[in-house]
Amino acid sequence: MIPYAIHVVDLPLNIIFREVKTREIAIFEGPKGWSEFSPFLEYGVKESSIWLKAALEGACDEAPKKIREDIEINATIPRTSINEVKNILDKFPGCKTVKIKIDNFRQDQDLLVEVLSIVPQAKIRLDINGKWSLTQAISNLIDYEKDFGANIDYIEQPCRDIDDLLELRKKTKLKIAVDESIRKHINNDFSKFKEIADVAVIKWAPTGGIKSALEIIDKINLPVVVSSALDSSIGISYGLALAQSVPNLYGPCGLGTASFFKSDITTNPFTVFEGKLKNRKIEPDLLDQFKAKPERQLWWQNRIAQIYREGLI
Ligand SMILES: [Mg+2]
Repeated sequence: MIPYAIHVVDLPLNIIFREVKTREIAIFEGPKGWSEFSPFLEYGVKESSIWLKAALEGACDEAPKKIREDIEINATIPRTSINEVKNILDKFPGCKTVKIKIDNFRQDQDLLVEVLSIVPQAKIRLDINGKWSLTQAISNLIDYEKDFGANIDYIEQPCRDIDDLLELRKKTKLKIAVDESIRKHINNDFSKFKEIADVAVIKWAPTGGIKSALEIIDKINLPVVVSSALDSSIGISYGLALAQSVPNLYGPCGLGTASFFKSDITTNPFTVFEGKLKNRKIEPDLLDQFKAKPERQLWWQNRIAQIYREGLI
């Protein structure tokens, strides 16, 4: 199918994300239900085409076989001030694993201390988004291990470069997860991944949908955490379907991010209960209320048309 009838919405966020306070998402309906196309605005046509492949699969294909029902969720703390931590954790009732976005060890360790003062047994995941050099990563991980070692679940993407990760892993006992490295190597060789990481973070849309994600997971051959790319509840339902079908799920997934929307696309969004989410079909009943401006509708229509024009789908 070609998604001619798209509804572009501009959803208000509770957080500042990529320097904006709203998230534009194109929603459309296919024979199997509603789907979401929402690559970030700065993404080029090639990268966006992978997200469109996922969106089309969601709209047109049957969900894969489930091997589990409810999905355990980790709390997510974006880069924020300490005063906000309690409010954010309240949106993730029952979650014992907490992911924190980190830039600088010295500045951001206050966030860890605050989380641990509220959830003392928390398992902490730190997401660096590949921002450290090898030298910084080695010295920061020595400090984390010393001060918080027992509470740390894993460090997500401390460095971007594969060779740096390979070197880093020899110098730390902390587990390493890869996220951005997977997308950088999509369609490529994952043979080194078992040497560079303990966990693979997989997202539904940036890996081109559930089928493609399951193929990549099979190639990487590491335990998996399914995460979101700040999707609406529609995208989250596909993330949950992926988590329900992954053979080797590592632990709680990063799919509780619907709480970062001040308003989701539905009056009945996914909310975490007892540390878990239960998957279900989402009906977008707020399409009119958050309809984006006509020029933005046109921008998204052109974005999709360009993907077809360049033969990427
Ligand atoms: Mg990440």
